[in-house]
Amino acid sequence: MKFYSTNNRSHVADLKTAVLKGLAPDKGLYMPESIPTMPASFWDNLPGMSMPQIGFEVLKHFFCPDIPEDKFRQMVEEAFNFPVPVVKVSDRISALELFHGPTLAFKDVGARFLARVMSYFADYGGKAINVLAATSGDTGSAVANGFLGVPNVYVHVLYPKGKVSKLQELQFTTLGQNITAYEVSGVFDDCQRMVKEAFMDKQLNEQKILTSANSINLARFLPQSVYYFHALAQIPREKWSKTVISVPSGNFGDITAGLVAWKMGLPVKRFIAAINANRVFADYLASGTYKPAPSIATIANAMDVGDPSNFARVSELFGGSAAEMRKLISSLSYTDDKIGATIAQVEKESGYTCDPHGAVGYAALRDNLTSDEFGVFLETAHPAKFIDTVQKYSGTIVDIPERLKRFMNGTKQTIEIEADYNLLKERLK
Ligand SMILES: *Cc1c(COP(=O)(O)O)cnc(C)c1O
Repeated sequence: MKFYSTNNRSHVADLKTAVLKGLAPDKGLYMPESIPTMPASFWDNLPGMSMPQIGFEVLKHFFCPDIPEDKFRQMVEEAFNFPVPVVKVSDRISALELFHGPTLAFKDVGARFLARVMSYFADYGGKAINVLAATSGDTGSAVANGFLGVPNVYVHVLYPKGKVSKLQELQFTTLGQNITAYEVSGVFDDCQRMVKEAFMDKQLNEQKILTSANSINLARFLPQSVYYFHALAQIPREKWSKTVISVPSGNFGDITAGLVAWKMGLPVKRFIAAINANRVFADYLASGTYKPAPSIATIANAMDVGDPSNFARVSELFGGSAAEMRKLISSLSYTDDKIGATIAQVEKESGYTCDPHGAVGYAALRDNLTSDEFGVFLETAHPAKFIDTVQKYSGTIVDIPERLKRFMNGTKQTIEIEADYNLLKERLK
């Protein structure tokens, strides 16, 4: 499979180049040249299939034979080694729990897969690969843990100082080894801009192999499409065509993966992009004009994105037409007050504890489902990752899983840096 740039369809790259470059030379995002449709037999077999089995069947179209099938099967089995259950929350609403991986958020899925693909390609005659990741919280921990100890790969995580939760921070600042954390005086968009500048820096790229682990990397977002199929595998087939999937969205990598699954034939009714007060996408759907805005800090902070990097991919999937997009996707935006009230409501009515991001997904279904529809929201993080917020609104005590406690005993090690690309460059040289 070849991959083209969203800025220029005639610029194509092979898998290795697209994965190691992250971003196309013209700053476009790589997209698969063709998206296959899954055959009828796949849907017949789906209900009995495991996540790694689905992963292999779906992803081999994009990654094989560039990666040999037997090797690829093994990579998929290693990456998708934790459960992703559909859990009933209320009569018509279920959660797809994506937080059973090592860092308790859905980003484990993409990061674990990407780490394995990159280490497969890390045969650059001993030249190290530098992975740059801007994070609003969960990417940093998932990427750092996904790559920890992988030989010949160095991970540089940039995050906005004081704007991620303590627990999130500990998950990527205490690891050491091949992981370096940069505490940037700025907001997430500054971190993202600095990373993008590094990729565009000709001089630096001649000296070093730089690559991205953000959802701009196609090997990060494509594996996420697998759990949309896996969700249907757990739902009775007669409900598939009435299913509405609500995706709490920030950089829109997760929903892009869902839309790719839809292009492959995922027979669901529609999608909702559930967002916090950063409402650029909802405004786009309403007006047809895309207007990036500075990001606003919210209690669902992993979605505090004012210029979603995967918007270009979403737009591409609909031929750039807002009208086409509206036929499949709606978008609902929630302020912090409403997110908090939703956490309280779900706890009270269903005894289910949502994290702030999942609560946005739930709220959109609650407010938007019609009477014959069935809703699944992506529960993107474990509530313990946002324990202060969740306990405040839910009024319950949230147990901290063992795998999270492990990080709390670590020592934070960071490099403090102003939001200036040249300072980062000095460190990377
Ligand atoms: C990253 C993240 C999101 C947003 O996902 P995108 O792919 O950026 O849209 C939502 N919830 C949590 C918990 C996250 O970490």
